Amino acid sequence: MKAVLRGWTQLAAEVRDFEFEAEGVERLTFTAGQFVSFSAEIGGKKITRAYSIASAPNGNRFHLCLNRVADGLFSPHLFDSAAGTAVEMQGPLGTFTIRDRARDMIFVATGTGVAPFRSMADEYLSSGGPARITLLFGVRYEENLLYRADFERWSAGHPNFRFEPVLSRPGESWRGRAGHVQPHLLELVGDRRDLHVYACGMKAMVDDVRTRLKELGFDRRQIVVEKYD
Ligand SMILES: Cc1cc2nc3c(=O)[nH]c(=O)nc-3n(C[C@H](O)[C@H](O)[C@H](O)COP(=O)(O)OP(=O)(O)OC[C@H]3O[C@@H](n4cnc5c(N)ncnc54)[C@H](O)[C@@H]3O)c2cc1C
Repeated sequence: MKAVLRGWTQLAAEVRDFEFEAEGVERLTFTAGQFVSFSAEIGGKKITRAYSIASAPNGNRFHLCLNRVADGLFSPHLFDSAAGTAVEMQGPLGTFTIRDRARDMIFVATGTGVAPFRSMADEYLSSGGPARITLLFGVRYEENLLYRADFERWSAGHPNFRFEPVLSRPGESWRGRAGHVQPHLLELVGDRRDLHVYACGMKAMVDDVRTRLKELGFDRRQIVVEKYD
């Protein structure tokens, strides 16, 4: 299948939300949290990369949230593509999806790792899901809080959704959480051992989250992860 780039929005420095249309179908069927696999010929070689879908299922349109990796191959290629460009696509694929819709959840993301959680939270809240979702989202600077307006709107409109941003390099006016996400996760978990924790982002953070939760006695089935590297 091909996906046609319809446009993009700059979310932060070197981060964009790209809107695509799945060509030739009325609906792109997927479970929130899944990714697509994109391929293109770059420098005479076929390069394939995975990207989490950042929007809830909605006809044949879908969004991706990409970081331009300096010296990378695929991400700069996509940033340089014009609207109307068709990209070879496989999927949606993957099992990073809500396991138990009745169970309270903590979503832990850093950087563009927030993409699948935007899809999962949007789909879950719009379908009236009753469990509590806490989104713990770590970035460097306040301006890197991708999709902040959406998360703040959802937290204002849904008593079961809580948005907890964390800045590793906060400005002087920041009154919220600071540092890395891990200690904040442990504080949010407290003495609860019934939660499901989902973590997405770079390996170092995801592995550390998993180790710390296991030390607390969490079963491996309560920890669901997606690693970007
Ligand atoms: C299941 C899955 C879902 C993914 N979803 C997304 C997504 O939604 N958005 C996204 O931007 N990337 C996502 N990635 C990462 C993506 O597939 C590519 O690895 C990334 O775009 C870099 O590819 P590249 O060809 O530009 O760089 P490469 O030439 O492959 O360089 C790889 C370098 O980029 C680093 N890297 C990988 N991903 C990122 C990132 N997001 N931010 C900063 N550095 C990174 C790696 O550590 C490595 O050092 C996902 C990966 C997987 C496995």
